[in-house]
Amino acid sequence: MVKAIIFGAPGSGKGTYASRLQSKLGIKVIATGDIFREKMKKDTAKGREIRSYVEKGLLVPDNIVIEVLKKKLAETSMGKGFILDGYPRTIKQAEALEDIAKIDVIIQLKVPDWIIIERLSARRICKNCGEIYNLRYLKPKNDMKCDKCGGPLYQRPDDTPQVIRERIKVYEQQTQPLLRYYKEKKIPFVEYRTEKLDTPPEEAVQEILNDLKKLKLV
Ligand code: ADP
Ligand code: ZN
Repeated sequence: MVKAIIFGAPGSGKGTYASRLQSKLGIKVIATGDIFREKMKKDTAKGREIRSYVEKGLLVPDNIVIEVLKKKLAETSMGKGFILDGYPRTIKQAEALEDIAKIDVIIQLKVPDWIIIERLSARRICKNCGEIYNLRYLKPKNDMKCDKCGGPLYQRPDDTPQVIRERIKVYEQQTQPLLRYYKEKKIPFVEYRTEKLDTPPEEAVQEILNDLKKLKLV
């Protein structure tokens, strides 16, 4: 059983690597961004409230996020463990998590800003299964369709240059302090750094897996 958090700026590859770690390790990925996108599809008061933050690149308020995460963790059968992607994003969220689960490891992705902007503007996602593509570096066989399930590919409305810049700013201001928080708690870190735009995800995931093995977590 491994309980991990994956940290990285928007576009650092969190979702892409987490989904591959999920299939390799048989663990669950819990991504708050995905949960919110599901909720925003419905025209409910909650969905509209969440949208008002997400579309500006701002953080959804802690009380909403914490409630959503608690519910998700309670209804997920853990089996071999989980990776949190996109949670926690504030110290308050981290403190709430401590009451629910003990985290074994932090996976930290270090990617320069220019790579992030290049990647996000060409990112496409399958509407059906959530698989992530990039029209330049992680190309689907057909620009419009998912290789895995044939579902339609779309661009996230918050993947525009202006909102991307806001998300990077929010990440640096609000999420970076979390790294210090976990370092102070002496939680082990696995760091993955890249300076290249076209590192194949498999290569990155293999490096992360090797480090997790060294820590005897998988
Ligand atoms: P990315 O990391 O690519 O910005 P995510 O899919 O993780 O994207 O999140 C998309 C948006 O959902 C965020 O910009 C934010 O508005 C909201 N969100 C997701 N997770 C959280 C969280 N833990 N706390 C606050 N807001 C969140
Ligand atoms: Zn698909």
